[in-house]
Amino acid sequence: MSDLAAALRREIEGEVLDDDYSRHLFSRDASMYAITPRGVVAPRHAGDVVAAVRVAAEHGAAVLPRGAGTSLAGQTVGDALVLDLSRHMSAILDLDPEARTARVQPGVVQDQLNRAAGAHG
Ligand SMILES: Cc1cc2nc3c(=O)[nH]c(=O)nc-3n(C[C@H](O)[C@H](O)[C@H](O)COP(=O)(O)OP(=O)(O)OC[C@H]3O[C@@H](n4cnc5c(N)ncnc54)[C@H](O)[C@@H]3O)c2cc1C
Repeated sequence: MSDLAAALRREIEGEVLDDDYSRHLFSRDASMYAITPRGVVAPRHAGDVVAAVRVAAEHGAAVLPRGAGTSLAGQTVGDALVLDLSRHMSAILDLDPEARTARVQPGVVQDQLNRAAGAHG
């Protein structure tokens, strides 16, 4: 286990993945590029995100947030700590049809929001 992964496991409630298989899975998005990340964190809440950013900085690692990974130009691959926000942080917190606004967690994908908003026409 890397020093970075060990430190993250002490601080974070969500999953910390640094095995070769998981890092391989997150080395790709919908683009043609592939770069193996240093590790992957699936934060359970905002406190986990804060802790992950702090621990990554302490270990000199860049941080790379990831939603659905559908970006087409390699935006979600890199020599970095990937934050997989789709696993636990994908709730629609508030939808206001009158004001036409929504508050969402960062892992929400557009289809999910469209379905919720579509119920209001
Ligand atoms: C088949 C297909 C069709 C598409 N059609 C369209 C289209 O019609 N119109 C269009 O505009 N795009 C389209 N795209 C592009 C793609 O869907 C968009 O780039 C989309 O916005 C990516 O969202 P994502 O959540 O998958 O982000 P990801 O691919 O996971 O990440 C994209 C970038 O955003 C950053 N990021 C992700 N989450 C966060 C966060 N919470 N905080 C900070 N940074 C974050 C990542 O680090 C990365 O740099 C298409 C892609 C595919 C595969």
